[in-house]
Amino acid sequence: MKALVLDAEWSPRTEYVPTERERREQRAENASLIYRQPTLRLADLPTPTAGPGEVLIEVKACGVCGSDLHMIEQLPDGYMSSADPANLPVALGHEFSGVVVEVGPGVETLAAGTRVAVEGSQWCGACLPCRAGVFGQCSNLNEHGFSVNGAFADYVVTKPQYCWPIDALVEQFGEDAAFEAGALVEPFSVIYNALFVRAGGFLPGGHVAVFGAGPIGLIAVILARFAGAGTIVALDTVQERRDLALQMGADAALDPVALARDGQDAAAAIRELTGGMGAALAVESAGAGARTFPVIERSMALGGKIVQVGVGAGQAPLTLITLQTTNINLYGSMGSSGSGIFAAVIRLMAGGRVPVLPLITARFPLERVMDAFDRTAERRDGKVMVRA
Ligand SMILES: [Zn+2]
Ligand SMILES: [Zn+2]
Repeated sequence: MKALVLDAEWSPRTEYVPTERERREQRAENASLIYRQPTLRLADLPTPTAGPGEVLIEVKACGVCGSDLHMIEQLPDGYMSSADPANLPVALGHEFSGVVVEVGPGVETLAAGTRVAVEGSQWCGACLPCRAGVFGQCSNLNEHGFSVNGAFADYVVTKPQYCWPIDALVEQFGEDAAFEAGALVEPFSVIYNALFVRAGGFLPGGHVAVFGAGPIGLIAVILARFAGAGTIVALDTVQERRDLALQMGADAALDPVALARDGQDAAAAIRELTGGMGAALAVESAGAGARTFPVIERSMALGGKIVQVGVGAGQAPLTLITLQTTNINLYGSMGSSGSGIFAAVIRLMAGGRVPVLPLITARFPLERVMDAFDRTAERRDGKVMVRA
């Protein structure tokens, strides 16, 4: 089978001592500390089979994510730029759907022929965080496309507990498009987790500001609109993404860099657009806290919530007295494990009221997955989708 395989050289930084597990499994908890010189190739691999407790999925659609780009980007010193876990070589791809084509011994909850969306994160269910119900913080977390093979491939092996049937999406969108919607369940779930599970949502009529209108920010606009936001303001430096934000339901889309160039302040613009009130919820989906937080902290309504969902290394400035005087809350959100989020997102999409497929702005066959990565790296699209 064809698969997009990432490899790199195992060479822990001199100042970093790998953990016992990292050495035993040759698995980095943070790729940028251990792996250097990443290389990417479309390889011919043996088609896998489903072992005990596993299922084999024939992949139908897999979205390209910003995290995939981080996996192939290098820091100036040659180390991988990704701070995600990595066990290389690995087939990339973690936002996917497909058809179960084989069930291994002992699998009783999923039958061959079932069309499914698959969770990217594999929580173990046995460690203390899992037993406490915080699956995203699993001590043994594995992730498709990072530490176990992912779905820029013809086939992928997973476990039934990470699979969610998408029959309802087939009814709403038809068979072929249902697989594309199915591949969007993962990124929708990431933002569902951030907005509604981690931050606990906002009251209808509250204003929402979205910092960074890449695919995750665009989905934040979609879900905030559907959840009854008053005014939604999106911010991005790329014109195409501001246009997409307006299409997905934002009321205004600002270019913070252009505003600053003209001597204007993005926070003041947000306050003006929200009638002086500010944002009940701010979503940081840029992963650029050093630049976004100075604006965010001055854009908030009293008692507002900030949720960090963009992934970026480094520190962000925060004026702590502002948290105190305005009763602001700050939440960190990672992934989408637990809380039945995949099922909720599938129901939401199947209801037919939220825009789903318009988020996809480019499609490539698996043979052209490298082109799909190049296209994503231009950072002008909504979601770039790789199709079987
Ligand atoms: Zn992703
Ligand atoms: Zn666990």
